[in-house]
Order: sequence, then C-alpha cells, then structure tokens
Amino acid sequence: MNLILFGPPAAGKGTQAKRLTAERGYVQLSTGDMLRAARASGSELGNRVAAIMDAGSLVSDDIVIALIEEALTTHKGAPGFIFDGFPRTVAQAEALDAMLQRHGKRIDRVVRLEVDSEKLIDRVATRFAQEGRADDNPESFKVRLNAYLDQTAPLIPYYITQGKLRRVDGMASVEEVSDAIRFAIDPRFSGPFGDERID
Ligand code: ADP
Repeated sequence: MNLILFGPPAAGKGTQAKRLTAERGYVQLSTGDMLRAARASGSELGNRVAAIMDAGSLVSDDIVIALIEEALTTHKGAPGFIFDGFPRTVAQAEALDAMLQRHGKRIDRVVRLEVDSEKLIDRVATRFAQEGRADDNPESFKVRLNAYLDQTAPLIPYYITQGKLRRVDGMASVEEVSDAIRFAIDPRFSGPFGDERID
C-alpha cells in the first residue's frame, strides 16, 4: 500500500503519517522533513533552500523529486510508503507516477484531509510555540496557504481522474482522523463507494 496524505499546510499530515508508520511499518517520506534535515546538517542543498522555505514558497520540483527518488531506492524493501507534503505540484505528481512505475510500484490511495483554513492559523501558532519553525509565522503561513491553493490544489482533479482520492474530515480529533484514514485505505472498500465526487 502506497499512499499520499494530501492537504494544506498544518492539516495534520505529519501527525497521521507517524501514526500509520508506527501501526503498519510503512515508511514516511516527508519532503519537508528531508529539507529541514538538509538545513540542519548545513549541507550546500540545505543552504540553498533555507530562504525559500522560511518565506513559505515552494522549492524547485527538481530538488524534491531527487530527494524522493533517493529515498525510494534507500527503502526498497518497505511494505508501503506514505508520501507527506509531496507531491505539491502537477509536475511532481507526474514525476512520482513515472518513478514508482520504474520501481514496479504505484500510488494506491490519496487521502485528502479537509480542514477549515481559518482554524489552521491557530494550529500554526500553537506549533510555533512548541517547535519554533521559522515558517510558522503569519506572513509565511499566508504564502504557504496560497502556494497550496495555486500549485497543489490542482492535484485534486489529477487524482480524482485516477479514481484514487478519498476525503477525510481533518477537523475531527487525531484519533477519529486515524480511524477515518484506516477506513479510506482499506482495500475492502475500494469500488465506487466512497469515491471523491467532482463538484
Ligand atoms: P507543511 O507543514 O506546510 O505541510 P512541510 O514541512 O511539508 O510543511 O514543508 C515546509 C516547506 O518545505 C514548504 O513550505 C516548502 O518550502 C518546502 N517543501 C516541502 N515539500 C515540498 C515540495 N514537495 N515541493 C516544494 N517545496 C516543498
């Protein structure tokens, strides 16, 4: 099972990815975490992306696609992958499909966490207090939300067309969201039932 956790910044993708990893041994591939690790290590790549990330803009497709390609090779034998924060553009989604095909894999499900964007501001303020992420300030967050709306939301029709998208209420409790995701990725409920509608 390979799945994408999809949604705006601070929707809870990372939290849910970690729960699935603990439960099923899937490997979480978070480009945000990879980029933050590159920065923390002081690598040339990390230095190159730092200002872009702090401003809340997307780093270039080439960089994140290369990071994912490398991680797929490193974790070849994994029972499943959870993509978190990737793909974020249509070009990244197309590259991912091509990459997975080369590895004899595919995306099985895309779980869209639906959240109230007004409430996200409060979540980000809480996270800033706890983790101190430089891009969790109101100005950068606005840029991140706009990047999501302009560049990432177009992936919704991309995955509807592939019949892979399922919607989950991301405003419910962490436990309830986990339950809904378990249901959304259960292959017993694969047919047209529960499919995302185009509306
Ligand atoms: P969020 O909490 O907004 O989902 P992430 O940790 O996924 O944050 O990403 C933080 C930042 O890292 C983004 O604002 C962007 O600058 C960069 N980034 C992460 N993933 C990608 C990606 N797939 N494409 C481009 N930029 C990315």
